[in-house]
Amino acid sequence: LKIAAIRENGANERRVALVPDVAVRIKRLGCDVALEAGAGIASSYPDSAYKDVSIEADKKMLLSSANILLAVEPPSVEIVQAMKPGAILISFVYGRNNTALVRALRDGKITGFAMEQIPRISRAQAMDALSSQATLAGYYSVLLGAVHMPKILPMMTTAVGSLRAAQVLIMGLGVAGLQALATAHRLGAVTEGYDVRPETRDEAHSLGSKFVETGVDATGQGGYARELTADEKAKVRAVLSDHIARSDLIVTTAAVPGRKAPRLIDAEQIAKMKPGSVIVDLGAEGGGNCEGTKAGETVQVGPATIVGPVNLPSCLAEQASELYSKNILNLLQQIIKDGKLTLDMTDEVVAKTLVTHDGKITSEAVRQVIE
Ligand code: NAD
Repeated sequence: LKIAAIRENGANERRVALVPDVAVRIKRLGCDVALEAGAGIASSYPDSAYKDVSIEADKKMLLSSANILLAVEPPSVEIVQAMKPGAILISFVYGRNNTALVRALRDGKITGFAMEQIPRISRAQAMDALSSQATLAGYYSVLLGAVHMPKILPMMTTAVGSLRAAQVLIMGLGVAGLQALATAHRLGAVTEGYDVRPETRDEAHSLGSKFVETGVDATGQGGYARELTADEKAKVRAVLSDHIARSDLIVTTAAVPGRKAPRLIDAEQIAKMKPGSVIVDLGAEGGGNCEGTKAGETVQVGPATIVGPVNLPSCLAEQASELYSKNILNLLQQIIKDGKLTLDMTDEVVAKTLVTHDGKITSEAVRQVIE
């Protein structure tokens, strides 16, 4: 089996799907490994770091010879069309938004694994690319916020008096939010967290943070949040407004799978914030948790600076690639035995992660928007 990783094309994409250590471990599965020349450079892995890996400058050759192609971002239709029929693609796919890509996978009889569809079950944790990338994004969001603030995060005693610690509020305590909370706490801020799932209260407390109590429980299916009703939204808003007004830094990370990012902060609440306060909106790509967020931009809205980062994991490309590549390795270990492909369609991880196989769209959610 030949497993190959491509050089990413996206303008803001610095990650690579295969890091040198993982290449060695894939070889141990009995596979040949190839890399498009220069694929790892942007994430600090020069071609020379990949031992026993064939470095291919000719992308077409690489695509047409690979049995399994690894990528980070959803690849272009052209890339899929240059793949060998019957080959496997492992990458983020986001099929509901990338319908042309899914059609190309289907028509090219490519078996497409969508890394964002790895089920959230204990056994699959080591393959969970959404979590590995969100962990880094959460960490980085606080640093990004800190550099936009006109003040420091920790309390500091100086010869001319003490500086007070900053107030940090993290809204949405999933994987990214908890990491943001931990990072802000480590940097010495006074932290509080908020989520619609009440079980996050204990997680916030265990990180040395307070939890904002709103009295609304929106636990949904599979450990995710459900959408709030209008009454619930009003109740939550009333409680949160005070906390928002007294924060120096807010990081918002709220998401409801398959839906637009929920709005957590509106213009009226922003207007009451302190001068110099900062909001980092990790929901920016999904429409924003905050009114006025512009994806990919930093904007001033009244007293607050709103940072709307896109693809934060790519800013930490070296380790984001390391974790993503290990997530893929763990998936490969499920589907390769002694150098041979063993696709078990009854396996929950395989079944839920596949988007296309053998000329068919296998993911019900994706089929709904395409067929
Ligand atoms: P996510 O990115 O889907 O959402 C981020 C957070 O936003 C969630 O905690 C959610 O509750 C919260 N949220 C949604 N609407 C909100 C609102 N209106 N106001 C405030 N907060 C709101 O979440 P995620 O990081 O992918 O994780 C979701 C859950 O899945 C977590 O409980 C996590 O621990 C769990 N999980 C389990 C596994 C596993 O078992 N393998 C892997 C990853 C995550």
